[in-house]
Formats: sequence, structure tokens, C-alpha cells
Amino acid sequence: MQPIFPFHPPVVVALADGRSCFPVRRIFCVGRNYAEHAREMGASNPAQEAPFFFTKPADALVAGSGALQVNYPSATRNLHHEVEMVVALGEGGQEITVDVAQSLILAYGVGLDLTRRDLQASAKSKGQPWDMGKAFDHSAVCGPLKLARECGHLDSGAICLHVNGDMRQSGDLTEMMWTAPRIVAELSRLVRLAAGDLIYTGTPAGVGPLQRGDRLEARIAGLPPLSAVMV
Ligand code: MN
Repeated sequence: MQPIFPFHPPVVVALADGRSCFPVRRIFCVGRNYAEHAREMGASNPAQEAPFFFTKPADALVAGSGALQVNYPSATRNLHHEVEMVVALGEGGQEITVDVAQSLILAYGVGLDLTRRDLQASAKSKGQPWDMGKAFDHSAVCGPLKLARECGHLDSGAICLHVNGDMRQSGDLTEMMWTAPRIVAELSRLVRLAAGDLIYTGTPAGVGPLQRGDRLEARIAGLPPLSAVMV
């Protein structure tokens, strides 16, 4: 059968080599994976609370090298930044064990899980879905991906975000309550994972509001930085 309008363009993330790209299938995100961030969001005993998952559509992604132009979204007065390590899967499966999970990780990147905090808070208070607070256009930002065979598997190192030159978020990957392999294993109990899946692995403390015109620099030790401007 003929499509009645052109197929949508594929969603990709650039690799740091400048030649290849990673075709994106799905975007998963982990909530409350750093204890200090869980506390700032109101959790009283984050260690006893398992991280949980939510999703964003693949076409919410803004990715590439150089300064990314990110559209400030409609319908919010409180857009928040969350700097996160992004894990890119080169293979998938179901019921993956923690031992095997690391071998499925093809590449790592620096990402932003942008959040309409006011809409998320309203949804939380009413027991409604988070989608309109989390899964809007340009809500997933990702810098160039670095292959694990080049940078090694990342389980420690500084993660930070500067906005207009001021440090807003700062932490270390060792503070993640769930490591990347545990996240992959746990997520594979819930859905069949596949090559092309991106997983945003949670944010350290210090989330806060963004304005139009803000310039963001997000960094994780060993990875290419992400730079973005809110337009
Ligand atoms: Mn997040």
C-alpha cells in the first residue's frame, strides 16, 4: 500500500566520531535515581523507594553536535532542567540479567530530561499521568554519543550542568541508586528492549527553572559535552 503522506523522518543521534548516527527507537527515563534529587522532590526515605520508569516519544528528541536550539515549550511557567547520563542500546531482549546487561550498552551520552514541573506537579496531585509534564516536543535533549568501546562503561565520574555560566547541578555517577546495568535489566522485565533504545538514567539534585535565552552546558566526565540554548 502507498502511504497517503510521506513517512516521518527517522530520529537519530549523532555519534561523537562525526560520521555515524544512532537510529532511535524508544526513549525511556528513570525517575528518582539519585537520593538527593528524590529528597528535593519530596521523598522522605528515597533509599527505600525503587526508581521507576516513564517514556518520551522518539520525536521529542533534539540531538546533535554543536549548540542545540531547544524550543521553550508552551503551557508552562516552570520548565525545569534535569541533566542525565543517557545510555544507548545496541542490542535488546527481555528478562536480561544484570551480568549481561552491560554488554547491550553500545554508547553513552549527556542528556537533558526537560520537565514542565507545574504540569507534572498538578498531574501528581490528581493521580493523573505525567505525559504532558514530561513527554512534550523538545523535552529530550541529547549530545553526541560516545561508543562504550572508546570511553569504557561509565559508572563513576562528575555530572554537572551550567546555565549561563552558573553551576546549577553537580553530582557523580556513583550516586545513582540503580546502576546502568541494573536499569537495563529491570526495564527488560517490563518491556522488550531493542537496538535504538535510549535510557535517561535520572538526575542529581539541583533541578530548577529555565527561561528563554538561557545557555546550557551539560557535562559528564569522559563524554562530549552538550550545549543548548532555549529559544
Ligand atoms: Mn529525569
